[in-house]
Amino acid sequence: MADRIECDVAIIGGGPAGQAAALALAGRSLSLVVIDEQPRPGGQILRQPPARIAVRGWLQERSYRPLKQLLERFQALDGVQWLGGHSVIGLQSGSIIAMGPDGATTVAARHILIAAGCHDLAVPLPGWTLPGVSAAGGIQAFIKGQQLLVGKRVLLAGTHPLQLIIAAQIVAAGGSVAAVLFAQPRSAMIAALARHPAAALRRAPDLLATAGAVKTLARAGTPVRYGTSLEALTGTDRVSGAQTSGGAIDCDAVGLCYGFVPQSALPRMAGAQMAAAGPAGGWACKHDDFMRTTVPGLFAAGETTGVAGAAAAAAGGALAGIGIALDLGLISPDAAETAARQLRRDLAQHRAFAALLDDVADPTAYLPAPSADTIICRCEDVDQASIAVQLAHCQSANAIKLATRCGMGACQGRNCEPSLLRMIAAAGGPAQAGFTARFPARPVAIADLLPPQ
Ligand SMILES: Cc1cc2nc3c(=O)[nH]c(=O)nc-3n(C[C@H](O)[C@H](O)[C@H](O)COP(=O)(O)OP(=O)(O)OC[C@H]3O[C@@H](n4cnc5c(N)ncnc54)[C@H](O)[C@@H]3O)c2cc1C
Repeated sequence: MADRIECDVAIIGGGPAGQAAALALAGRSLSLVVIDEQPRPGGQILRQPPARIAVRGWLQERSYRPLKQLLERFQALDGVQWLGGHSVIGLQSGSIIAMGPDGATTVAARHILIAAGCHDLAVPLPGWTLPGVSAAGGIQAFIKGQQLLVGKRVLLAGTHPLQLIIAAQIVAAGGSVAAVLFAQPRSAMIAALARHPAAALRRAPDLLATAGAVKTLARAGTPVRYGTSLEALTGTDRVSGAQTSGGAIDCDAVGLCYGFVPQSALPRMAGAQMAAAGPAGGWACKHDDFMRTTVPGLFAAGETTGVAGAAAAAAGGALAGIGIALDLGLISPDAAETAARQLRRDLAQHRAFAALLDDVADPTAYLPAPSADTIICRCEDVDQASIAVQLAHCQSANAIKLATRCGMGACQGRNCEPSLLRMIAAAGGPAQAGFTARFPARPVAIADLLPPQ
């Protein structure tokens, strides 16, 4: 173990939620550490290029402006210790273990906020382990962070409208998109919109941004198809094509975009109560109206509490900051209530829009079917047939993990857990009991955890 830091507040995650919490706590004479595995703050939505790389026209779209302002205010804060390039691998009451380039650092804090964001839903289908196939968010991360294109002809497929934005970003970066495929018919998306008229009206600009992306794609001659599902990906050394319900498509990279799942390993490890998250699956951290979890001293905000977008993350983060200030005795209950009132209204409105998006993008009826030899757990190479054999005897995620090693590898089940739970549910078992979260949350060499010799 390299270092030990003691502080009043530690925030895990430098995205909009973590930034807003830090800003709410700023100037209150306390010691504050923000930890993030990315070297620079910004989170997923404002992934910054490495400091040495200048990216021309970095995230120029209008929708990113308010978040860029938040990021600028955060970066201008005095008195915040930024622990970038450090992955939190363990979390117990009041104590965090973070792995950085120089080994492990223990951060002991009176209050901890988990604002760890979300990740793409991993979707197993025949051929999905071929090089060139990734989550659509991963493709976007390369563009945001370094203007790198992952292929010459990228196919995007799934159910989530974010794939339109990502496709337009690929085109704007000079790339070519073979097609954008929505598995659901357009009529299903319109019907879902109509079920949430108030949220649709209130967030019309966000919907228009998606329409703008469709226009960009039309100008580039990129087909956008609805009701077209992905059946298999083909290729030898690398993906070279896709079989879809609408025929074969040539491509050399594929981004799967079926939704997002909260990063839940840390609150689960800390023993916080969780609830089933949106239709894409996963677990959201339960909280009260100051974002306190069920574990004393532990707060949660942003996508860790359910995937609801960056504006919701910022509102939740600010609420958590106020809650922590209240619990530290730095503000009065009256002042906290006054400061929280508008934020709670904002959060509720953003979550109403998230419910609309969940409905529009709901992947459950449209997920591709894995075949018997499709790998479900990529870390441990466990295929669907091996899991199916065990499902005949037991329907507990932990028992299947022990029997097959599904979920026991480097990602600790982050990718395979939703697929396994869907298989358990299809076999009539309980889909609401996932893996027990285990230390470490990220892969680490044993030597890095031992005291120096
Ligand atoms: C790949 C990806 C791309 C996205 N792109 C868009 C987009 O273009 N537009 C849009 O509207 N929404 C996008 N989203 C959704 C978006 O992430 C959120 O709406 C918003 O960024 C949430 O803010 P947050 O603060 O909750 O989380 P984030 O912005 O994700 O911030 C969480 C931070 O926590 C850090 N972290 C997580 N786990 C650990 C750990 N164990 N140790 C240390 N640090 C950790 C992460 O590195 C990250 O910087 C994307 C999501 C993903 C996963």
